[in-house]
Amino acid sequence: MSAPRPSITAVLPGDDPAAISHAAELLRAGGLVAFPTETVYGLGADALDPIAVRQIFVAKERPVDNPLIVHVADVAAARRLVREFPPLAERAAEALWPGALTLVLPRAAIVPDATTAGQDTVAIRVPAHPVALALLHACQCPLAAPSANRSGRPSPTLASHVSADLDGRIALILDGGPTSLGLESSVLDLCHARPLLLRRGGVTHEQLVALLGPVDCVEAAEGAVLARSPGLRHRHYAPRAQVELVAEGEGEAAAARALAAGERVALICRRVVVSPAIVRRLPETLEGFAQALFATLRALDDEAVERIIVEAVPETGVGAAIMDRLRRAAAG
Ligand code: AMP
Ligand code: MG
Repeated sequence: MSAPRPSITAVLPGDDPAAISHAAELLRAGGLVAFPTETVYGLGADALDPIAVRQIFVAKERPVDNPLIVHVADVAAARRLVREFPPLAERAAEALWPGALTLVLPRAAIVPDATTAGQDTVAIRVPAHPVALALLHACQCPLAAPSANRSGRPSPTLASHVSADLDGRIALILDGGPTSLGLESSVLDLCHARPLLLRRGGVTHEQLVALLGPVDCVEAAEGAVLARSPGLRHRHYAPRAQVELVAEGEGEAAAARALAAGERVALICRRVVVSPAIVRRLPETLEGFAQALFATLRALDDEAVERIIVEAVPETGVGAAIMDRLRRAAAG
């Protein structure tokens, strides 16, 4: 059954049990509810209801060939969605769930084409956020939940980001405050001989290698392998302003060039800098930088900035995921 499209989107506190019950009812009736996870806010629908799931694509204006991540409460619920839960999945789930790791596995017949974009695989994760887990327990169904933004925009790390993109298009937003990681989950494909990291995210490549042995990265792959992650083909993470990625230490010079060309310019970096541009200094730790990045890009859009210059960060740990997002934002 499909719920009618709401004209006003309610925002309720995620830590209120009555709000969770109401959200679960809406979801069971085929509605859309945005909720916080530890990565970014997700836009949820009953993953086993193709009509509800199609509404996610409509609300987000998401390309229909980009499959959704299915969120479940625990490993037992994940097993019901797959034909096989191989030993590496066992090991990854044991060590990293609940957490920012999504596993791509052979899908069971109950998972509809709408959720997997017709693929024979399904992406699954157990989120760590208490509001997400409370909602999953209350609604008693797996939730398909991509990031709760309009397609192409930076992922939402605050309830107000969800409102800005989806107000009037979804029934309800559960507000859980700022998300702690600020970056999406890592997506790991376990359907082939060697694990393949399709998207870098909150769990690092280093962590996965230490746990599972060799893990290939999609950047090093090509052709047939790239086809396994449809989302990679689409424009992503981009604010309205033009993003320009420069090496650390080159921000002031890049800002000066853009200012001379008459642009309204902002500079994002981890250093103390003196520049006539709008300067947003983010935390020096990569975790702190990741947490603040998407919110900073959105805030600069709100200030009508035309060009955002971002200084590169080291590509170790979560820095690799940050640089992936920045390169995509700059390509947008
Ligand atoms: P989002 O939900 O917006 O965080 O995006 C989900 C990401 O997971 C996209 O990059 C998708 O392409 C990827 N994904 C979801 N399901 C699958 C799947 N079955 N196979 C490969 N990648 C997937
Ligand atoms: Mg997304």
